[in-house]
Amino acid sequence: MILKIIIYAAIFYAIFYALKGIFGSIQRQVSEEEGGDGSGGGEVADDEMIVCPECETYFPSGIGIPRRVGRERHRFCGEECAGEFSVRGGPPE
Ligand SMILES: [Zn+2]
Repeated sequence: MILKIIIYAAIFYAIFYALKGIFGSIQRQVSEEEGGDGSGGGEVADDEMIVCPECETYFPSGIGIPRRVGRERHRFCGEECAGEFSVRGGPPE
């Protein structure tokens, strides 16, 4: 019985890692396509905690909403913050 649980756990683990690898490579491709300027500056790992420039909340950059505001690219915790920031055209006072 316990062997069965271990086997299931191993399979689950393998699937989880396979999916993580697939999504990781997709996200890399997407960010390379939208990157464009070639400087590479400002790119962060998906699991890195970054601060939303609008509401100053920490969140994993992988779930962030990338948005270009003026000449700069920012990553927001959600669509609402991205909207507010881009409407104002800069960080809150
Ligand atoms: Zn925010």
